[in-house]
Amino acid sequence: METTTVKSQTLSNFIGGQWVKSATDRYEEVPNPATGEIIAEVPVSTKEDLDKAVAVAKEAFKTWKKTPVPQRARIMFKYQQLLVDHWDELAKLITVENGKSLTEAHGEVLRGIECVEFAAGAPSLMMGQQLPDIATNIESGMYRYPLGVVGGITPFNFPMMVPAWMFPLAIVAGNTFIMKPSERTPLLANRLAELLKEAGLPDGVFNIVHGAHDIVNGLLEHPDVPAISFVGSQPVAEYVYKTGTSHGKRVQALAGAKNHSLVLPDADLDNAVKNITGAAFGSAGERCMAAAVVVAVGDVADELVDRLKKAADDITIGNGLEEGVFLGPVIRPAHKDRTLGYIETGVEEGATLVRDGRGESGSGGGYFVGPTIFDHVTQEMKIWQDEIFAPVLSIVRVETLEEAIEFTNASDFANGACLYTDSASAIREFRDNIDAGMLGVNLGVPAPMAFFPFSGYKKSFYGDLHANGKDGIEFYTRKKMLTQRH
Ligand code: NAD
Repeated sequence: METTTVKSQTLSNFIGGQWVKSATDRYEEVPNPATGEIIAEVPVSTKEDLDKAVAVAKEAFKTWKKTPVPQRARIMFKYQQLLVDHWDELAKLITVENGKSLTEAHGEVLRGIECVEFAAGAPSLMMGQQLPDIATNIESGMYRYPLGVVGGITPFNFPMMVPAWMFPLAIVAGNTFIMKPSERTPLLANRLAELLKEAGLPDGVFNIVHGAHDIVNGLLEHPDVPAISFVGSQPVAEYVYKTGTSHGKRVQALAGAKNHSLVLPDADLDNAVKNITGAAFGSAGERCMAAAVVVAVGDVADELVDRLKKAADDITIGNGLEEGVFLGPVIRPAHKDRTLGYIETGVEEGATLVRDGRGESGSGGGYFVGPTIFDHVTQEMKIWQDEIFAPVLSIVRVETLEEAIEFTNASDFANGACLYTDSASAIREFRDNIDAGMLGVNLGVPAPMAFFPFSGYKKSFYGDLHANGKDGIEFYTRKKMLTQRH
């Protein structure tokens, strides 16, 4: 299979349906993390670029908000078909800019398509509620309206799925949209924009301004942007939430994670090992739903650790475009160095290094870290407290399910958690008592489908309404109440 990549290109912003060169003279190189080869240069856009995009989106809002909802939905039907037609191309682009395996990239495109399919149900989603007789001859009704220009700020780890949590729903609800993609994975965003145009989306409804902090701050402070959707790391999510809300905006900010997998002595270990291995090391651990910690309960620990090590030994590392590769690179050399630093810290903290991935550099000049496993990890250790966001798995040993739940809930994060067992009462205890927002039983990555909210609590989420599902449509609309006497 061909493993070289796209021809390097200098990217532009997408404003008013056109490619518009940024006013900046600063560009950042975008390497393919599997090879180090430069595949693009992304503009570090300026406030001037953002102001232009907001003005265009504000103007487009005047007509888009009045476009009949079924007509907006029809564009999503067309878009869905285009995404399906370009599935392979989109998946390859994700692998080339992010590093995850082609199989995982195919899966990511599917998750994105599902969001578009959900948004195509806009006529039902946008319905209000009426009560004909709230008093004699008086009726009351709730009507949904869009907010205006919405800003979307996205991370590097899901260049397709995360933006698709945002713009399809925002747009079908009648808003116009400005996306600030991760500067580390900007290519896929531009393809999404081209296909939206091809699907018939009017110019100015969807815009992209590439860049970094200045564009994020510009969106957070802009008086013509009433709402912000953010997905990214915890400190930035907290900053975005606080800054956005202090400027009077509606903000949803999805943040970092440290997901625990609890394994009970009655668990089917074949299934547990397969799923934990996939969830810990797939996408190089760069998933907000990655299994970062295993909590082994009772006498399951020794065999579980042994089997997890063997499964990790069997993983093929390399360029995600190559057949059979499971573990690709991490996103940048700095992230590799940070990960190696955490492995060193784990050793210094006294955890048992069961498998050391530091020496495994894979093929080519990419930024690889092999699967790494620590046993006997405790709450005092940084490797347990922090989100490492890399193929590093920590194992904790406890005696009871109650202890396992208590241990898990001691984490600052509360995104996902999984339980491996056949016991109905254990499942109920887990469901009722664990803090995390997305729970799995006997599976590795319990990410909800598009028609449910992508949940999460504590330091994993800032806001009230989550992304996707009915929460998503609530977030992107405001409700007006009309009460009339006849
Ligand atoms: P990141 O926070 O570095 O970047 C996210 C976005 O914020 C990017 O567009 C970036 O340009 C911008 N940004 C970064 N630093 C900024 C700053 N100081 N000021 C203003 N803007 C800034 O996140 P990332 O490394 O791209 O993504 C990985 C993180 O995202 C992980 O922590 C992961 O858990 C999290 N994530 C969470 C979810 C979820 O659903 N909770 C989903 C995907 C990723």
